[in-house]
Amino acid sequence: MSDVSPTHYSGRFAPSPTGPLHFGSLMTAVASYCDAKSQHGSWLVRIEDTDIPRIFPNSETHILKSIEAFGFEPDAEIIFQRQRLSIYEQVIEQLRQQHWVYACQCTRKMLGSNAIYQGTCRDLDLDFQDQAIRVKVSDELICFEDRLQGRHCSNLQHDLGDFVLKRRDGIINYQLAVVVDDYLQGITHVVRGADLLDNTERQIWLGHLLGYPRLSYMHLPLAMNASGQKLSKQNLAQALDLKQAPLLLSQAIQALQQPAVELDTPSNMLKQAIVQWNIAHIPKQTELAGTYF
Ligand SMILES: [Zn+2]
Repeated sequence: MSDVSPTHYSGRFAPSPTGPLHFGSLMTAVASYCDAKSQHGSWLVRIEDTDIPRIFPNSETHILKSIEAFGFEPDAEIIFQRQRLSIYEQVIEQLRQQHWVYACQCTRKMLGSNAIYQGTCRDLDLDFQDQAIRVKVSDELICFEDRLQGRHCSNLQHDLGDFVLKRRDGIINYQLAVVVDDYLQGITHVVRGADLLDNTERQIWLGHLLGYPRLSYMHLPLAMNASGQKLSKQNLAQALDLKQAPLLLSQAIQALQQPAVELDTPSNMLKQAIVQWNIAHIPKQTELAGTYF
């Protein structure tokens, strides 16, 4: 598997509505938008809501309102993954015909604390009905050059084992939905938080099995709260206050260590940030210490 460098740029912002957008999400949105637009690319928005039990009430509304309030202009209609479940099912069926997936009856209790799946059900040929579906991985090193974090590698068999594409309760795993939609939306460049760095080899592997082209990756440093935790719904990161959009936008641009932009309408501020965009200024680390909103 080799890296390819796509010529046309198509980027995306793909939040999960497990909580309202916070400052870290804004940094990701700004970076993916400016990176795409500075290369005359397109920028798409996708709501990653396949994990229905984890959807936080009203967060989808907050995400959509935020995109507008912060002046982002998606180049296509926003798509929602929970409306695309039949597409992911078809892909699982395709992988089944190619013998890349199998049903797994292991319960969490049986798997115990061992994070690496040992392939217990690989050769049992279990019926797919009401079972988790796993994809086979192979004993090989998968590497990619992250535009910010440098070379990153994983041997999925040693680090993870065959992983779940569909849970027993029918929920489609995030990894599968991301890979399928990046392909179907024609995405060439992924710009997202460094918390997803370790997912990348899994996604490259799935894309490889499905014959999809390789993507370019850039993983941004994560905004941390005063206690040194990544901003998330779990540690009660503050929802973006849409009335403060210009100020928050200027802080996000600053956190990405881009040249300052004058306070103006969010749309004009983004235009200025696009002109000044330079990824060489972004801190090459996975965490940003300091207090953010
Ligand atoms: Zn199993």
